Amino acid sequence: MPVLDLLCRDARITRVTLIEPDVYKPHNVERHLFPASAVGQTKARLAEQWLQERRPDLEVHTLVCDLLDPKVQDDIDTAAASADIGVCAADNEPAKFHWDALMRRHGKPWTLGEVLSGGIGGFVHWFAPGGPCYGCVASHLKRAVTVEKPKAPDYSQPGGAVAETTIPASRASIAAIASMHALITLGLLADGVSYSPGFTSLLWSLQRVPDVFEEAFRPYRFRIPRMADCLICRASEPSSAEDLDVALDQALARLGDA
Ligand SMILES: [Zn+2]
Repeated sequence: MPVLDLLCRDARITRVTLIEPDVYKPHNVERHLFPASAVGQTKARLAEQWLQERRPDLEVHTLVCDLLDPKVQDDIDTAAASADIGVCAADNEPAKFHWDALMRRHGKPWTLGEVLSGGIGGFVHWFAPGGPCYGCVASHLKRAVTVEKPKAPDYSQPGGAVAETTIPASRASIAAIASMHALITLGLLADGVSYSPGFTSLLWSLQRVPDVFEEAFRPYRFRIPRMADCLICRASEPSSAEDLDVALDQALARLGDA
């Protein structure tokens, strides 16, 4: 919602489709823009009202459904096909992978924001057609970044196996990462394929945490390449004869090793 609010104040945004299944709950009030009196309504409807009160000219469509629900995939595909850019703030890994596949299938650029457990920092990633997929990025960061340690679980997995150690992020931490997420989204939308902020993933620390972040308020910029042997984006896009030759060579090399 904070990313949506920031994006839709920009006059260049003329149309938005929201995919959101949740109902607004009492525990959401502390970190949301909506008042306690809104509890019980769907978040999608509340977001639509919020936007219409500020941008009457904005075209808003809502899909009150789970992103992964098989029954709504046609509607989601139609929306994705007509969009210029995707924005993901999903809080679980299956949804992020599903969104990545949707965006790549339609050849759309997209962005993803993730606030770390306790609001100690967060990630913003941007993706372009033909570039690394979410699987490439997640795999790279798992090897390169220590915030994935069990004692500092990802805020994006509150229902996961490490739920008992997950600490909600503050509204201020969420807003800090959301602001960067919105700026990167607007930059990618404006520049298209020539967008080049110097990273594909930005990690920003907001607190000093021993063994995780040596300093607060420090950016870590990652240029993550597409993995040549990624099983996700490799499989769907062996687009040229050259690519196919490389894929075949790699497959044969693996057979040779076995
Ligand atoms: Zn990949």
